[in-house]
Amino acid sequence: MNIIPRIVAPRCDWGYVAGMGNMPSNSPDTRPDGLPYAVAKTEDEWRQELTDPEYHVLRQAGTEAPFVGEYTDTKTEGVYTCKACNTELFRSTEKFDSHCGWPSFFEPLAQDRVIYLEDRAMGRVRTEVRCAGCGSHLGHVFEGEGYETPTDLRFCINSIALRFDETTQKDN
Ligand SMILES: [Zn+2]
Repeated sequence: MNIIPRIVAPRCDWGYVAGMGNMPSNSPDTRPDGLPYAVAKTEDEWRQELTDPEYHVLRQAGTEAPFVGEYTDTKTEGVYTCKACNTELFRSTEKFDSHCGWPSFFEPLAQDRVIYLEDRAMGRVRTEVRCAGCGSHLGHVFEGEGYETPTDLRFCINSIALRFDETTQKDN
C-alpha cells in the first residue's frame, strides 16, 4: 500500500537556502521547527526496513558513488518518492541533465516536502536536503552554478534514497 503521510507543519522557504545565517543545527530526530517527523521510527526499525546501502545513505547521510545510481539518467515521466517513507519529493518535469553523476532536480515537488539543514562536514558549508516526512537524508542543494534552469539550483539527490513511480499520462 502506498501511503503518503501528511506533512504536519510544512513551511520551508528559500530563506533556508539564501539566508545561511539562521539555519538550524543538524538533528536527525526533530524537524528544524521542533516538531516530530510524521513518520518516526527507531533506528532498529529503519535498519530492518532498509537495505544496508539504503540505510547508510538515508539514515547516516552517506553518499552513493557517482554515475552508478539507478535514476541518474532517467527521463521517464513520473514522481520520485522517498524510499524510506513514500513522501512524494520530486517530479520528472523538474529533473535535468547536470552531468554530475547523480539525479538532479531544479526544485522539489513542493517546498513542504523537503527540509534544509546546514552541513559543515567535508570542511565546507553545504546545504543538506532531507525528507520532510521522515527526516531521512536525500542529498544536497547547490545554488548559483549557472545551469540553465528556472531556479539555478541543483538538488543533487542520491538515487538510492528515491523510488520512482512512473505516471500514466492522459492525452491532452
Ligand atoms: Zn522520507
